[in-house]
Amino acid sequence: MLRGIGTSKGIGIGKALIIHKCKNAVSRAKINDTEAEVDKFNEAVEKFIQETNELVDKLSQKLNGDDKNALVLKNQEYLIRDPEFTSGVISAITNDKLNAEAAVEDTCEMLKNIFLSFNNDTMTQRVADIEDMKQRLIAIMQGQKHIDLTKLSDNTVIIADEIHPSMTANMDTEHIAGIISEKGGDTSHASILARALEIPAVLSVKDICSKIAEGEEVIVDGAYGEVFVNPTPITLKIYNKKKKAYDERVKELKKYIDKQTVTRDGRKVMLAANIGNADEAAKAVKAGAEGIGLFRTEFLFMNKQALPTEEEQYNEYKKAAVVLDGRQLTIRTLDIGGDKDIPYMGLTKELNPFLGYRAIRFCLDRVDIFTTQLRAVLRASAYGNIRIMIPMITSVTEVQAVKKIINGICRDLDKKDIKYDKDIKIGVMIETPAAAIMADVLAHEVDFFSIGTNDLTQYTLAVDRGNENVAYLYSALNPAVIRSIKHIIECAHNAGIEAGMCGEAAADERMIPLLLNFGLDEFSVTVSRVLETRKEIASWSSKEVKEITENVMNYSEEKEVSNYLSDCIAK
Ligand code: PEP
Ligand code: MG
Repeated sequence: MLRGIGTSKGIGIGKALIIHKCKNAVSRAKINDTEAEVDKFNEAVEKFIQETNELVDKLSQKLNGDDKNALVLKNQEYLIRDPEFTSGVISAITNDKLNAEAAVEDTCEMLKNIFLSFNNDTMTQRVADIEDMKQRLIAIMQGQKHIDLTKLSDNTVIIADEIHPSMTANMDTEHIAGIISEKGGDTSHASILARALEIPAVLSVKDICSKIAEGEEVIVDGAYGEVFVNPTPITLKIYNKKKKAYDERVKELKKYIDKQTVTRDGRKVMLAANIGNADEAAKAVKAGAEGIGLFRTEFLFMNKQALPTEEEQYNEYKKAAVVLDGRQLTIRTLDIGGDKDIPYMGLTKELNPFLGYRAIRFCLDRVDIFTTQLRAVLRASAYGNIRIMIPMITSVTEVQAVKKIINGICRDLDKKDIKYDKDIKIGVMIETPAAAIMADVLAHEVDFFSIGTNDLTQYTLAVDRGNENVAYLYSALNPAVIRSIKHIIECAHNAGIEAGMCGEAAADERMIPLLLNFGLDEFSVTVSRVLETRKEIASWSSKEVKEITENVMNYSEEKEVSNYLSDCIAK
């Protein structure tokens, strides 16, 4: 078995088709007629742009108008029009007397080296784009034809050193069972496109091109990043079974994509998704989410060298709001500390980081950073249905302090005539025992609750959520956590506000009947769990969840609860 990075889920079984990189042997001979070479280059650029637009159209059709993915290719047009690139090539022809192909090759290699020196994923992707552009441009100048992937036999598994976006546009994707390549990772365009086209893909498989011969049988497991070349009959049998089960599950779940989220007896609940950036908002909608119940904004602050500006944040929040097109977008303010460090903020190491300078405690201390974020959120609220959510609340005083800051920003925006949603809803995460116990009081201060079971479980049970030595104690099915959840939802409803849940427990099939019985209004889950959660909710009636909850409330041990609920869902 060979291993790589599984970048597009699913199991593909078929015959290998090896795509050898087109060699593009480029002559280094010096030339005299520089003008003719410049003309040759300019003509090739025009042809390249025309060809790119045709490929974009083809890809867009294949993806049912999903232009975002097709625009991956459009990037190459921007690259080729970049004056730095064109002037580099022309200077190599006129000054160094290189022929057009060699000038393109040298300029592309130079640009690749610049991008490689940044050493991050996005830049590495740029390198792949430049390589694809280089090969296509040289092929045009040499009069070479594309590798023809337009007619493939059934169940073809594409094997290549690298899959370029231009190849995917021409692929007869209906007959492709899987994709394997030596280069590329989760964020490479090949992965993005494979996911959009739902083709199982495993990338970064070392030396795959030399480990397999054309026509050999191969299995691609895109979930686990595994590749089997010439599998034994027993492996083949196992994987055929797995493939059948996987394909049936996907087909079954797809039935829920455009459906409302309702119980079997017709009670409607809201099913939202958790995201970490604006791009994921589009994925959430595509995956069937009705809105966003948690936008973890700390990711905008992590993986950076400095604080994001108000403008950067505003653009990101606005982008998500616009993509959601009126659907709810719950933006959680900065939740750092605990296990989420942001090195450039210079936070001191603490003995108990989860009990320390975290989330709202940090924000109320660094009002400058908090105000910048809240201003960005408020400005973005003019473009969609945004709600503000505050993490790690332990007291009413904190909520009042936040509201005071928000009111101050609103006054300033009013003075400057800057648009924002004047009825913006402000809610809190209930994820500490203090907030849970005081939920009746807190409910009168805010517009909504969202239960953060990841933290609520760790704080209620005094179990560090990341410590494997005590992981056996960490369970949201512990009766103490369940009672807390019930109490929080009751307090919300008594005060006439909605209660949601954005911790992982919202997608736990064992927890769902209890949450339905408690009357949870909104389930917010990881994007990949949206359809499963909708299906699970649809399988229960009010009568069943009432009976199950009554039994659960009689148990005193986590094991009793989890065993009982596991039996219930197995029935
Ligand atoms: C939670 O605590 O349940 C939650 C959703 O927040 P996070 O996992 O980001 O702490
Ligand atoms: Mg939390």
